[in-house]
Amino acid sequence: MTTVMYGTELANKMRSDLKDEVEALSRKNIQPGLAVIIVGDDYASKTYVRIKRNAAEKIGIYSKVVEFPEDLKEETLLDKINEFNEDENIHGILVQLPLPPQIDERKVLETIKPEKDVDGFHPINVGRLSNNQPGFIPCTPLGIEKMLGYYGVEVAGKHAVIVGRSNIVGKPIGQILLNNDATVTYCHSKTKNLKEMTKQADLLIVAVGQANTITDDMIKEGAVIVDVGNTYLESGKVVGDVAFDEVKEKASFITPVPKGVGPMTITMLLYNTVLSAKVRNSADK
Ligand code: NDP
Repeated sequence: MTTVMYGTELANKMRSDLKDEVEALSRKNIQPGLAVIIVGDDYASKTYVRIKRNAAEKIGIYSKVVEFPEDLKEETLLDKINEFNEDENIHGILVQLPLPPQIDERKVLETIKPEKDVDGFHPINVGRLSNNQPGFIPCTPLGIEKMLGYYGVEVAGKHAVIVGRSNIVGKPIGQILLNNDATVTYCHSKTKNLKEMTKQADLLIVAVGQANTITDDMIKEGAVIVDVGNTYLESGKVVGDVAFDEVKEKASFITPVPKGVGPMTITMLLYNTVLSAKVRNSADK
């Protein structure tokens, strides 16, 4: 029988636990604080920021949203980040991506102090993950790791195939699985004969952004499938990268879209923000 892994279930549980942790911190006069910076008027980005802010406030995290116009000078953005770097009430800083072309994304991410980098995109945190040292881990891959743990999916010794090699999903989830003793293969747009690769997967993670990238003839019987993709159809419906109905018949575990990986991503942002506040609190003692 196939188990459908709902991120909503674990996300609700974790958010309730995080709310308790925030209350415990508030008894020590600490309120975790999250600063979110958005540049421009992109509808999707604004929606994501609104969702993040609401989720943070619901569990008692103080949130500060700064909105800048599309024609913003890079220097102004860097100054704002530096202001939050020094702000004692802010434990996490997030700059909503993508940024307009006049702004150097790398420079922006490298300006955020690594100890406030709750997105885990600073090269220091990327390096820590690569070295299997404690640090902030990007939210979507961290959410996938937590989901696999929650559903009791064993990773050690498994052949994990990752389709997609972005810095925010593909690469870091591969690192996490490697750190957990999986054997990892990365695939991308230049991979020859994708099907030959995906059919070998005990655990298949798909983060491409194209519907029906993975069909039932591309997977092994009993494989564990995690679908990260989000594609909005003209009808307004959102679908993943995996042909869910047919693949579900062969998989042992599978995440749906929506209600799969998505809800875990924001939960992990809250988790990283609370973690940052806790680390600062113990460092101050
Ligand atoms: P990117 O566009 O940055 O990366 C996509 C990756 O897919 C690239 O590595 C690309 O290869 C690879 N790719 C493209 N076409 C193919 C193909 N035909 N076969 C194999 N590989 C291919 O996307 P992201 O990683 O940012 O996001 C991926 C998807 O996940 C998107 O739909 C996004 O919306 C979704 N997402 C969902 C989140 C959630 O919380 N649920 C969070 C983050 C993302 P190459 O490197 O060679 O170009």
